Amino acid sequence: LSDRLSGIFDKITGRGALSEKDVSEALREVRRALLEADVALEVVRAFTEKVRERAVGAEVVRSVKPGQMVVKIVHDQLVEMLGEEASEINLHAAPPVAIMMVGLQGSGKTTSTAKIAKRLSEREKKKVLMASLDTRRPAAQEQLKVLGEQIGVATLPIIEGQGPVDIAKRAQNAARLGGYDVVMLDTAGRTHIDEPLMIEMEEVKRASNPHEILLVADALTGQDAVNVARSFNERCAVTGIVLTRIDGDGRGGAALSMRAVTGKPIKLIGTGEKIDAIEAFHPSRIADRILGMGDIVSLVERASEQIDQEKALKTAQKMKKGEFDLEDFAEQLRQMEKIGGMSGIMSMMPGIGKMKKQVAAAGIDDSVVKRQLAIISSMTRQERQKPAVMNASRKKRVAAGSGVEVQDVNKLLKMHRQMSDMMKKLGRNKKMAGLFGGAQ
Ligand code: GDP
Ligand code: MG
Repeated sequence: LSDRLSGIFDKITGRGALSEKDVSEALREVRRALLEADVALEVVRAFTEKVRERAVGAEVVRSVKPGQMVVKIVHDQLVEMLGEEASEINLHAAPPVAIMMVGLQGSGKTTSTAKIAKRLSEREKKKVLMASLDTRRPAAQEQLKVLGEQIGVATLPIIEGQGPVDIAKRAQNAARLGGYDVVMLDTAGRTHIDEPLMIEMEEVKRASNPHEILLVADALTGQDAVNVARSFNERCAVTGIVLTRIDGDGRGGAALSMRAVTGKPIKLIGTGEKIDAIEAFHPSRIADRILGMGDIVSLVERASEQIDQEKALKTAQKMKKGEFDLEDFAEQLRQMEKIGGMSGIMSMMPGIGKMKKQVAAAGIDDSVVKRQLAIISSMTRQERQKPAVMNASRKKRVAAGSGVEVQDVNKLLKMHRQMSDMMKKLGRNKKMAGLFGGAQ
């Protein structure tokens, strides 16, 4: 795949904006790559359309090949669609918090129940009770009990002849009486979606009012992932997805399919048969895998670096001319964040002990950087370009918009002024200018 992709991208030449034709050509390969990774057809269509919108007309920055630019857009869009932040299990509710596990038979519900129970009890020191509601498969309840003994997590005593809804109610009561923080309900599956299964899930849901309903799905599900995700989500409004068998040789296309049709976050991934083999979901890792890893990723990284360099160069040139506005300031702040915050950038500059002290005195640390970026993004474009227009009422609006006090906005504006002055001076000093983006 990678060869084919870079092959096609090398064909795209020329500078300036990406044309419709460039993008269409590249997208044909992207579409093929996604289908090979088992992303469902309807999701592939939606995805490539989004990329097209973003890519056509996008300016190709100097020193980046147009093909690399498309790769970067594809990668970014993929990460965005997979969900940018890792979101873990939500336990913000009155205990005992019920977590209901749903999914097809063999998808890994029981294993994941135990994995999650272990994770919650070890990492978050939660007292967890597990209950198997699987009265269909012989020995299913026994399977959970054995796992519970292995990991030292309590399981609800088995009572023969009780149905899933009664077990769910009994589990809730036992959890309440026993002072448990979390009660995990491991439901029965079917080999395929059918009406009796859906009715059972609805009933269990009604009886236990779960705070999380996790859809457990096999990463190797392929084209069927869309149906599974859609059916479970429509009938029991899942709150998140656990993707198992990421350790298999599939490319993880199901992640994109399921996320796209449900809009629900992928919360955890199963990475093996062992009880510890469960991890937080990292969108960019799955994105790399779906795209085919290796050189694609390094291509993207190289492209990003060049894009950053390009921006730094532009900023440096503006600084020299004394045109350093708040947009440039924000750009500098973002760069700082990337290379390890203010402390990182300062330690990279030789002989700037004095400035270091000034910065320390101004109270800049890394959490402040985030707040400053929030303030700048609450401003209008005009305000960013001409900070002089910031009067009292504008300051008030910006402060409210970014959740800070007016004095924080004042501090930021003052810092920008000082920095801008400093930059002007530095701009006249060749050696120093070099430190800020390499413009000579
Ligand atoms: P259930 O029917 O949904 O409860 O599925 P089980 O939890 O019983 O799992 C079925 C099989 O899948 C078992 O053999 C598990 O060991 C295996 N399994 C579950 N999760 C994973 C995983 O993340 N990776 C691998 N390799 N195997 C898994
Ligand atoms: Mg099971």
